[in-house]
Amino acid sequence: MADGADGGPGAAGAAGGCVPVQPQERAMCSTTSGCMISKPSQSAGCMMQDYLNDSAGASLILKWMVMTQWCDERFNFQATFLQCLAKHVPNIYSAEMDPLLEKQEEMVQAAILYPLECYLFGEDPDIFLEKLQQSGTSQLCGKVFKGGETTYSCRDCAVDPTCVLCMDCFQNSIHRNHRYKMHSSTGGGFCDCGDTEAWKAGPLCTKHEPGASGSAKENSECQLNEEIMEHSRRVFPSVIKYIVDMLIWEEEKELPPELTISREKVDSYYCVLFNDEHHSYDHVIFSLQRALGCELGEAQLHTTAIDKEGRRAVKAGHYASCQEAKEEIKRHSENISQRPLHAEVLHADVMAHQKFALRLGSWLNKLMSYSSDFRQIFCQICLKEEAGSEKPCFISKLMLWDAKLHKGARKVLHELIFSSFFMEMEYKKLFAVEFVKYYKALQKEYISDDHDRVLSVTALSVQMFTVPTLARHLIEEQNVITTITETLLEVLPEYLDKNDKFNFQGYSQDKLNRVYAVIYDLRYVLVSKPTLWTDRLRERFLEGFVSFLRILTCMQGMEEIKRQIGQHIEVDPDWEAAIAIQMQLKNILLMFQEWCACDEELLLKAYSECHKAVMRCSTNGRSREKTVFHLCGHTLESRPYRVSADPVSIHLPLSRTLAGLHVRLSKTGTISRLHEFVSPEEFQVELLVEYPLRCLVLVAQVAAEMWRRNGLSLISQVFYYQDVKCREEMYDKDIIMLQIGASLMDPNQFLLLILQRYELADAFKKMKPTKDQDLIKQCNVLIEEMLQILIYVVGERYVPGVSNVTKEDVIMREIIHLLCIEPMAHSAITKSLPENENNETGLESVIDKVATFKKPGVSGHGVYELKDECLKEFNMFFYHYTKTQHSKAEHTQKKRRKQENRDEALPPPPPPGFSPAFSNVVRILNCDVMMHILRTILQRAVELETHLWTEAMIQMVLHLLSLGLLEEKQQLQKSPEEEVTFDFYHKATRMGSSALNAVNVLMLLEKLKRVPQLEAQKDTVNWILQMFDTVKRLREKSSLTTVAATSGSEATKSDETQSTQDKEKAERKRKAEAARLHRQKIMAQMSALQRNFIETHKLLYENTLEAPGKEDAIMEEESMSSAIDYSKIALGPKRGPSVAEKEVLTCILCQEEQEVKLESAAMVLSACVQKSTALTQNRSRILELSGDTLDPLFMHPDLPCGTHTGSCGHVMHAACWQKYFEAMQLNFRQRLHVEQIFDLENGEYLCPLCKSLCNTVIPIVPLQAQKINSEDAEAVAQILSLARWLEIIIVRISGYSVKNAKGEKQNLPAFANKGMGNSALEFHSILSFGVQSSAKYSSSIKEMLILFATTIYRVGLKVAPNEADYRIPMMTWSTCAFTIQCIENLLETEGKPLFGSLQNRQHSGLKALVQFAAAQRTTSPQVLIQKHLIRLLGVLLPNLKGEDTPSLLEVDMFHILVGVVLSFPSLYWEDAVDLQPSSISSAYNHLYLFHLTTLAHITQIVVSSATESPTARSPDNSEEARSAQSFCREVCQYTGGCFSQDIPGWLVWDCVKKGIMPYLRCAALFFHYLLGVSPPEELLQGQKGSEKLKFVSEEGQFKALCSYLSLPTNLFLLFQEYWDTVNPLLQRWCADPVVLSCLKGKSIAVRYPRKRNSLIELPEDYSCLLNQASQFRCPRSSDDEQKHPVLCLFCGAMLCSQNTCCQELVNGEELGACTSHALQCGAGVCMFLKIRECKVVLIEGKTRGCLYPAPYLDEYGETDPGLKRGNPLHLCRERYRKLHLLWQQHCIIEEIARSQETNQIFFGFNWQLL
Ligand SMILES: [Zn+2]
Ligand SMILES: [Zn+2]
Ligand SMILES: [Zn+2]
Ligand SMILES: [Zn+2]
Ligand SMILES: [Zn+2]
Ligand SMILES: [Zn+2]
Ligand SMILES: [Zn+2]
Repeated sequence: MADGADGGPGAAGAAGGCVPVQPQERAMCSTTSGCMISKPSQSAGCMMQDYLNDSAGASLILKWMVMTQWCDERFNFQATFLQCLAKHVPNIYSAEMDPLLEKQEEMVQAAILYPLECYLFGEDPDIFLEKLQQSGTSQLCGKVFKGGETTYSCRDCAVDPTCVLCMDCFQNSIHRNHRYKMHSSTGGGFCDCGDTEAWKAGPLCTKHEPGASGSAKENSECQLNEEIMEHSRRVFPSVIKYIVDMLIWEEEKELPPELTISREKVDSYYCVLFNDEHHSYDHVIFSLQRALGCELGEAQLHTTAIDKEGRRAVKAGHYASCQEAKEEIKRHSENISQRPLHAEVLHADVMAHQKFALRLGSWLNKLMSYSSDFRQIFCQICLKEEAGSEKPCFISKLMLWDAKLHKGARKVLHELIFSSFFMEMEYKKLFAVEFVKYYKALQKEYISDDHDRVLSVTALSVQMFTVPTLARHLIEEQNVITTITETLLEVLPEYLDKNDKFNFQGYSQDKLNRVYAVIYDLRYVLVSKPTLWTDRLRERFLEGFVSFLRILTCMQGMEEIKRQIGQHIEVDPDWEAAIAIQMQLKNILLMFQEWCACDEELLLKAYSECHKAVMRCSTNGRSREKTVFHLCGHTLESRPYRVSADPVSIHLPLSRTLAGLHVRLSKTGTISRLHEFVSPEEFQVELLVEYPLRCLVLVAQVAAEMWRRNGLSLISQVFYYQDVKCREEMYDKDIIMLQIGASLMDPNQFLLLILQRYELADAFKKMKPTKDQDLIKQCNVLIEEMLQILIYVVGERYVPGVSNVTKEDVIMREIIHLLCIEPMAHSAITKSLPENENNETGLESVIDKVATFKKPGVSGHGVYELKDECLKEFNMFFYHYTKTQHSKAEHTQKKRRKQENRDEALPPPPPPGFSPAFSNVVRILNCDVMMHILRTILQRAVELETHLWTEAMIQMVLHLLSLGLLEEKQQLQKSPEEEVTFDFYHKATRMGSSALNAVNVLMLLEKLKRVPQLEAQKDTVNWILQMFDTVKRLREKSSLTTVAATSGSEATKSDETQSTQDKEKAERKRKAEAARLHRQKIMAQMSALQRNFIETHKLLYENTLEAPGKEDAIMEEESMSSAIDYSKIALGPKRGPSVAEKEVLTCILCQEEQEVKLESAAMVLSACVQKSTALTQNRSRILELSGDTLDPLFMHPDLPCGTHTGSCGHVMHAACWQKYFEAMQLNFRQRLHVEQIFDLENGEYLCPLCKSLCNTVIPIVPLQAQKINSEDAEAVAQILSLARWLEIIIVRISGYSVKNAKGEKQNLPAFANKGMGNSALEFHSILSFGVQSSAKYSSSIKEMLILFATTIYRVGLKVAPNEADYRIPMMTWSTCAFTIQCIENLLETEGKPLFGSLQNRQHSGLKALVQFAAAQRTTSPQVLIQKHLIRLLGVLLPNLKGEDTPSLLEVDMFHILVGVVLSFPSLYWEDAVDLQPSSISSAYNHLYLFHLTTLAHITQIVVSSATESPTARSPDNSEEARSAQSFCREVCQYTGGCFSQDIPGWLVWDCVKKGIMPYLRCAALFFHYLLGVSPPEELLQGQKGSEKLKFVSEEGQFKALCSYLSLPTNLFLLFQEYWDTVNPLLQRWCADPVVLSCLKGKSIAVRYPRKRNSLIELPEDYSCLLNQASQFRCPRSSDDEQKHPVLCLFCGAMLCSQNTCCQELVNGEELGACTSHALQCGAGVCMFLKIRECKVVLIEGKTRGCLYPAPYLDEYGETDPGLKRGNPLHLCRERYRKLHLLWQQHCIIEEIARSQETNQIFFGFNWQLL
């Protein structure tokens, strides 16, 4: 209703605004009332108009209307309503092609909806609805989910996983503290809050609880009064009828007569194009362009609308032209795909009414939310059948028409159903009944429809079928199970073959997927087992079951296969469909069995039905004559059948269902009554066993590679047969069926049957010798497979019903065996366990009993480790192990036992006893045929017929022996000896035959110990021999006492055993020694190999092991110890010596070593230059995307965007690198189609060694070692004071200026003018005294200097390369300063010492960068450098100030420092001679330049912190505080009082000391790398080797920095010392207007220390983020389309990604929201969190990006990209910090390149549109 409420009379008035003046329009306006008043009178119309224009008179008018018209009994609403519509609708919706949506809406409101509401409510709708608002709220939430919305389910309380809550309800429910799951809705679902049947507990959230704040007034007043109800009963039918009529209206040209007004029919038509799921977007656009001859843009517009709404008019005009367009569209679309696009020609009026019908639908939809009465009336009318008519009711009509409706109409219809029927339980039931009534028809429509399931009315089934009471009602009353199965039986027959079995060859995936939807419905109906059974329910269920058996009958034996002999099959048959159906059916089969087991009678009846069905299918091969098979005096009569020659099928759902029912009979004990339902003659257990047995034999033969020629499809089927997704209803049940056989058949016959089916009958008779190795191998594998099955038949008892175990026991055993392989992550375990109908594995309930959790580190995931006490449960021949798992587990367990110094025997754990129905199974262990098999195999081993046995076979025989002995021992312990008939011991010790050389098993075992190939089995054999002994003792009653003891703990041992034990001990020792020697030998071999490897990869090794940085570190260390006395001062006369080092580096490409020298060929360091906003203080600042006009000389103190240079630290010869790069270019040019990770055009390449992404190289310029004689230096100090130095410089500069300005009038500062002549001379005399010739670089170094400088310029400014650009030196200094600042920042945030803790790559990169920056000057014109220098100095020396010189508060001082220091030597340059300052003059230059910038920086800090409010601290009256105080007084004076004098001195000092630290640290780094002077120890990493690191206090660090940089610790002393010189400077600095405006608080300056950036704070709980995302509204569009909100982790902005609405046009390119945001926020590099997907995205530029799991972990220490598992997630701080470092270390680009290299899939992704 929001539309009506918001717009109200005001909006309607506005609509009317188009009306009043002209008479003809007025007439039109009068129609506003026409719909309400049967005979529209002019006056009524005008009054209505007045009313609309003036809402003040509203109530009066209303009253009048009510009095005169509405209460009229004779008033025919229906007719009036239709008349009104007939009049208005075509007008309102006339401009279909280009509608003004807002205006349309206003007109609808004014002309139709508002009057309608007035009539309905009898008063002003706004007032009425306001009143109604509070009372109508239902206890059901009923929120309908959009695609992508997050839904929550509670694993503790939800009745089934389809029960979900919306985010609001979830956050206000008790479940938020339970084990919840989060998922992304596919759309179309519905919040179940308030549905008491959906939740075991907490069905209501606090918001929907009765009496909650929102619904406080409930039940108080606003039950609808009778009058309104009456009106509703009159209005709704007309409205609904109109909607239904129009939606199902099929005439294209005509309207129903009651809507046709007399006016002439206009020839106005539309060609309407409909949406389908066949044609792609591009496809439709293409066809439209061709057919209509329209522009791309228009075609795109149409296509988007069609996709969204489901249909759209693409052409308007006369009938003929529309018809023509329709044909054209058909023709053009047919050309590209087989199916043409669906287009229709509709009359404009038809189109208009259909549109309005939908509008009315959403009007009703809103109305429904106000009152339960409305809903009920609405539902009643929808369900009302016309008396005596066979026609369906309204709602059924719509349902049946659903598949014919277009997308938009369906959406409205479904929403209406949700808001009405589904909000009223009673009517939901009635709706469900209607739904089931037409179920078959609906599903058939859906199956032939081509829209997604969410758009089909059939998708509503889940809302009804999963409600337990509703499901029961539908079964009882509507026979829904039978309905569904019959639907299946009607839609599936197209897949039946001539034997009436399914065959899915050549099926359509899409169509079958639609059939799965029906199967799902069956699952929904069965999901909750009834607790109460009525006769009717029983009857209906059984009926459904029998009907279901008919489906299974079609599957039993489907898709038979035959072994291919000779030729390989040509085409792999389709196998996926059958397996997929099997997967879909798995839980349904289980649920049917569970339902059957609820009731004894039912179970027996179902069993008998199922048995009959199996028998009916078991006719195969009956025609053949029976043959007889003899072995060991036993015979088997059977019909011949060979898996290897006859057809066989893996699909046996009937047999398996029977097995499932059988187990349940056994479990409930009902089996005793079985004979009442199935007579023993009918039972025919051999037939029941036959088919599952064949299937197992097939598996064995596949393992024996007998089916090689049948291709991959068979391999896949066999895989799924045993896989966790299917095995419960396939493999497991086949084993059970064999167990049933073994328990009911004669054991010898059973084994003979097995031997025969395995085609091994001959193998256990006397062997005919054969030479065919393949056949022998085949036979051996078959024997292994058979033995394994026998082990399973006897040993696998963990099935409730087979033995007396619980479901929990079963899961525990599964988990134990998984963890016996290796520790596993929670998700890995979950994946390996079968899920029940609620997608639960039961893992959590038992995992803590068997395993302990180990937390994850920064990467990887948490794992579970098996508890030691569970190891004894390990069964090597666990039937769910794959072959690899089996051998892995065996290996792990043996290794463990070895480590514990125990024997390696892994006997089976004692199995639980069979339940009575299965107790006979064990008889196969001690029957004659089994003994024969065991003996035969053992004998072959002992007789060394090597080709006839394998170790695996022996292992299995030993396992079977162990099982037999364990069984006998258990039985003997339970009952008295004479009652135990199980005589395994007896049988095993009997001779095999009466022959002379006959042996028994026991003797064979003794011999086996001496078989060398079976060394590994010795421990097991010993264990078995001991068991024989134990059983023997148990049998021998004479030694009862010993028996008790032995059976107890085997603690007391006879002397005999003792001695054998000793012997074994000695033996073990010998073995251990042998093993040790063996290991030694292996180790020797290994190291030889390794040496070899190192030899070949020598150079590679050297580079990684002895990277340059490390050498440096060592050298530094050495020099430190020797040069301990040297001064550790970097600046001024006391400057310490450079640590001279000879650098010998190895090229990673040619592997040759070279010393770095000025005159040698250049060596370079691979490097990556990138723009960076890592340090920005103001992320909202708009960055210039192109630097064409940028002047980068001054860096703003916000540090908005800098140029960072990083290196991976790998060294190459410049020449080698060039060759490498060229080769790569050539290589890629030849393979054009290969998309490359890097952009060669822009100089990108991957470092040849470490594969990091690089885009340039830094030349390595050696440090020029300098050492000054401090005595000389001190002497110079006498002459060269700061004042003097300044004077000389100014003169020198003004000299240049005059010279360079050439005629331009130079306004030399007065200060400089005095004594100019003298100073000019003195410059030569004094500074020249410290001049030396410039360094001479080799040409290759020079070349590299230019190359690198140009790259910095190009990347940093985003401009085309230009070697001669004047900004090149500026960019060099800038990247140098910025990179140092980044590194300082990083060291500080990581809490590392300033020196010695850098990574090697950072260290060598920085060293090279600083040296490069110093050398770069020589490749530029010195005049240029001088110009830059003068501009830089202008900031410090106001006399040099130019027009563009920024004020003190607008520059970053460190950038100035680097600039002036590096450019200063240019002053020494003379026209002809290239000179540079000597060491001594450099020392002074550096000192004074540094002091000057420091003074300026201190002033910056003081001024910008002027507004700092004092924190509570006891004021101290230190020297510094006093100096600060007096400094402030000066500043105050110079700023004309703008600077407050009241700030306490100690506070100022505090600010300065804190604020200046980063600057000092940067300066220390800079000068260290520039000059090579060792830093004081306080700034160094603690001594290597010594355990404790030195922790230097803040204070200590400050002092050390001051000392290194020649500063007084009381920084204000600088001012005092230089007062005369500084005073005028300070005066000018402070007088700057910018400074003053800042002090006045008019502008804000950066505070020092600047804030250190970090990634935004993320919430601890991931659902908070999802919450945020759900509230996210796209800033540009208001449609309800699915959005992909992403969070910028740099700035916290939430963006709308991957959507056209938020694309931005940048430089003519469409960029997605993320990409365009990244350009600003991170200068192209950015980090986002895709909230709904729970993934982090790194992007760089427009073409690159990669995905990462978000730094959130579930309680099992695992990430969940895509929220696939949906467990609650919590922030992992360490991982988030890792991401932070990735950013601050500027490694994002590197990371992207690396991930792109490993994950090629991202190539396809269009990052640009992210
Ligand atoms: Zn909800
Ligand atoms: Zn709720
Ligand atoms: Zn819960
Ligand atoms: Zn080289
Ligand atoms: Zn590298
Ligand atoms: Zn951002
Ligand atoms: Zn958007």
